[in-house]
Amino acid sequence: MKPIHIIGGGLAGSEAAWQAAEAGVPVVLHEMRPVRGTDAHQTDGLAELVCSNSFRSDDAETNAVGVLHAEMRLAGSLIMRSGDENQVPAGGALAVDRVGFSEAVTAALEAHPLITIAREEITGLPPEAWDQAIIATGPLTAPALAEAIAVSTGAESLAFFDAIAPIVHFDTIDLDVAWFQSRYDKVGPGGTGKDYINCPMDKAQYEAFIQALLDGEKTEFKEWEGTPYFDGCLPIEVMAERGPETLRHGPMKPMGLTNAHKPDEKPYAVVQLRQDNALGTLYNMVGFQTKLKYGAQTGIFRMIPGLENAEFARLGGLHRNTYLNSPALLDGTLQLKSRPGLRFAGQITGCEGYVESAAMGLLAGRFAAASRLGHAFAPPPVTTAFGALLNHITGGHILSADEPGKRSFQPMNVNFGLFPPVDVPKPEGRRLRGKEKTVAKKRAMSARALADCRRWLEQETAGIAAE
Ligand code: FAD
Repeated sequence: MKPIHIIGGGLAGSEAAWQAAEAGVPVVLHEMRPVRGTDAHQTDGLAELVCSNSFRSDDAETNAVGVLHAEMRLAGSLIMRSGDENQVPAGGALAVDRVGFSEAVTAALEAHPLITIAREEITGLPPEAWDQAIIATGPLTAPALAEAIAVSTGAESLAFFDAIAPIVHFDTIDLDVAWFQSRYDKVGPGGTGKDYINCPMDKAQYEAFIQALLDGEKTEFKEWEGTPYFDGCLPIEVMAERGPETLRHGPMKPMGLTNAHKPDEKPYAVVQLRQDNALGTLYNMVGFQTKLKYGAQTGIFRMIPGLENAEFARLGGLHRNTYLNSPALLDGTLQLKSRPGLRFAGQITGCEGYVESAAMGLLAGRFAAASRLGHAFAPPPVTTAFGALLNHITGGHILSADEPGKRSFQPMNVNFGLFPPVDVPKPEGRRLRGKEKTVAKKRAMSARALADCRRWLEQETAGIAAE
């Protein structure tokens, strides 16, 4: 059987390779590292996490990304299996030891009898002989391939930046000042309610810190000026520029935290650090992505109480993000309309985040395998997290007549806003209001999604077996 060629061994490409091979189809996975690196990757490992080590909430009852986790587990995801095996405590989130995680994915793919890994850069569109191919080269797609995609699609590929948060050596954090506590003492899977390190600030310290962020020297990216930031990964100094209170209402909010050293003093703002590796020797500064110059970062972050003597394992940075105008270019199975058999997966399709990228890899791998095997394969219903995200990428937009998809399409994390409305069960004799109603709606959407996903997977398996 001819193989499926997958370009890019990141979150999406690794999952796509696994799914296709598990369906019985041979795969060649082309990954350019270590032959050529990117601005963010630091290892040769497949599925490297380039920034945070979190897959975000693992709550499959009231959180959309938690539902996506659950659906991926039902579909036999390698990314979720490896994440679960390498979990580190992080409150209600699924955070992983990034090295152990990437090693687990790499080992599973290397050991699979139907997968060949070719360490090479692909510099143009896949040749016609690769009649089933998936491009999963991510937000940092190497320039030659990005250029070839832009030329061939004739559409503008949009580029902008997102930023990396610094990582601190645990033993350089002053725990006479900082303390362990999860916000509202929340206990998640494998957690203790004390999964974060918190650094408190009073009003004067906070104001001095904000001023230092505003004054600090930033990296300049003149050629890309004016491009929008990746929402949810906004640099802290950009948040500080939006107003003195912005950070205090964002990553530095003091809510749900009590200073263990001074329980009577309510902190004015708090910087949180989350465990970054299984050993617990590294902690990342939560939400502290930055484009401050390296020299400025060390001085400014050491203004944070508890981090006066901090040593940084990695400083923050700022990087490019490239994605397609997918609603105009791709069909409902992530296939390039102008070239059937060539699919895209992962962040380059305009989804956002590790889990979402892997989920689109999972679908692309299954779609491509079904095509190779000659099976019909229905896309997941839009009521599932898989389907809601796929619909966002490939069809769920009001398209402008002049520039189809262009104006309305922005990369997005999975969220309940992408799911169709649902009937919310009402308790006997009274109406639901406010937060109670919102939570009930999320519960109903989550339950529907998981039931529909189970049904979809069963039907697909039964359909293929019957052919
Ligand atoms: P990647 O995981 O980047 O994989 C693409 C792979 O393709 C890479 O291994 C690359 O080496 C390879 N490649 C590229 N071009 C070629 C070529 N021509 N030939 C062969 N191989 C090639 N998401 C989050 O959820 N949380 C975060 O905190 C977060 N922070 C981020 C910070 C930065 C700086 C960046 C750039 C992204 C961040 N993201 C974050 C988004 C994250 O990159 C994606 O969510 C995820 O890694 C995308 O998965 P992917 O498989 O599409 O791409």
